[in-house]
Amino acid sequence: MGEVRKLLAAVVALALLGGAGMALVLFVGAGLSNRPQAWCQPGGSGVDVAGVPDGEVAGYAGEQLQNAATILRVGKELGFDPWGQTIAVMTAMGESSLRNLPFGDAVRGVTNPDGRPTTSVGLFQQQDNWGSYADRMTPERSARLFFRALDRVEGWRGLEPTLAANRVQRNADPGHYAKFWADAVAVVAALAGVPGGQTAPPAGPPPAAQPSGAGATPAVPAGGYNLGPVAPHTAAVAAEIGQRFAVAEIGGYRENAVDSGGHPAGLALDFMVGDDAAKGDAIVDYAIANAQRLGVDYIIWRQRIWFAASPQDGWRPMDDRGGPTANHMDHPHINLSAAPGPGAGALTCLMASSVRPAAFGTGQWLAPLDAPVSSRYGPRVLAGGEGGSGEGAHFHAGTDLAAACGTPIYAAAEGVVTYAGGPFRGLTGRVVFVDHGGGVETSYNHMDAGGVLVRSGDHVAAGQVIALVGDSGNSTGCHLHFGVYENGRHVDPEPFMAGRGAPLG
Ligand SMILES: [Zn+2]
Ligand SMILES: [Zn+2]
Repeated sequence: MGEVRKLLAAVVALALLGGAGMALVLFVGAGLSNRPQAWCQPGGSGVDVAGVPDGEVAGYAGEQLQNAATILRVGKELGFDPWGQTIAVMTAMGESSLRNLPFGDAVRGVTNPDGRPTTSVGLFQQQDNWGSYADRMTPERSARLFFRALDRVEGWRGLEPTLAANRVQRNADPGHYAKFWADAVAVVAALAGVPGGQTAPPAGPPPAAQPSGAGATPAVPAGGYNLGPVAPHTAAVAAEIGQRFAVAEIGGYRENAVDSGGHPAGLALDFMVGDDAAKGDAIVDYAIANAQRLGVDYIIWRQRIWFAASPQDGWRPMDDRGGPTANHMDHPHINLSAAPGPGAGALTCLMASSVRPAAFGTGQWLAPLDAPVSSRYGPRVLAGGEGGSGEGAHFHAGTDLAAACGTPIYAAAEGVVTYAGGPFRGLTGRVVFVDHGGGVETSYNHMDAGGVLVRSGDHVAAGQVIALVGDSGNSTGCHLHFGVYENGRHVDPEPFMAGRGAPLG
């Protein structure tokens, strides 16, 4: 996997784009020494157990939330991002309901395959081959044992969360943990906004109409909300509020909506509550109480508007726009700022990672971005745009796909990340290279700070989210510059991808 060869490939690719010659080599060198500078920030912010919310989150409270906070803190210390931390919380939910149980399945007569009673105890129900009884019964130590084992599962980030957990736990039913995923996301979302050491919980009423108890069916759609191409922090806020208040339908992206900074920008959410005004009231109270953490800009509800920038003004009346929906009688509209709030932002990687199921071993190719082609491969004359500040002939060594900044970018096929770094100013900004074997590589360019979600050496699945669309480097707007290389030479990505059943645009 010659690092030097990859480096040269990156230099060649970037030089073809920008032609900035020797300065580039220095930039690339600097990028390598600093990696993984753009790796997703581990979430949870070192959550302090004293800071967990007073009420319930997804039916979990008190000791259970404190144990979740311990899991997040240990995961963060070990360098796991929110995706890995949420897998751990989900696993403990499925094993012990987040309780540090001094007994296990043996009390129900469950035995190992060899007939001996199981010896599982604690948060993760670990048997005696995991460690001492004291270790397994200390939440912090048992979480550490879990994360270490997860780290040894090859390609765990690309697996369905329940399968990753199953590889660690070796339980009989690989799908056992799937039903806990949505609750784990809600708990991590709620705890991610609790700064370490802070004792005041996030303000807000206890969850309304939250399904709980045996047999309850969550109102949240199994496949998640169909929000369209919204910003990752918008998706994170939708998940948190949607879970918490059991909202069945949430509107997101709408190209033709008139609020240019809202629905068409992927920054607005419509929580459809129908005639359940009490639920709408509870949602807006929660959003106002957590406005700073969630990055709320303004809220419209029942023909009134509330601005985060001037909370002292409270609700202001709005003009009559006609029908009940136009007047927001049946749905709070929550508009977020373009910049993620500190709590919602911690979940950016997590939510981005859950957009499309990723697969190993299928040999499948997928478009890296569901977006229109904005510039094709081939010679072109520049007018000061991408690839150079001057005019003149220039070879565009890839395909540009235009999408809002923050839109998830998928690995086009399974492979190994051979380079993840930057930014290269004046060139293609932050860059990821993936080697797919057989002499084929792809590159992904222009990501902003925080928009590179993988690091060199990662084994990524086809369709795994590896980055977020950005505007770094010599770029005139949010887009992905996608490159394909065969035996080190760039080729036209459009026929290449079309030939593999994954046309671009
Ligand atoms: Zn709306
Ligand atoms: Zn380009």
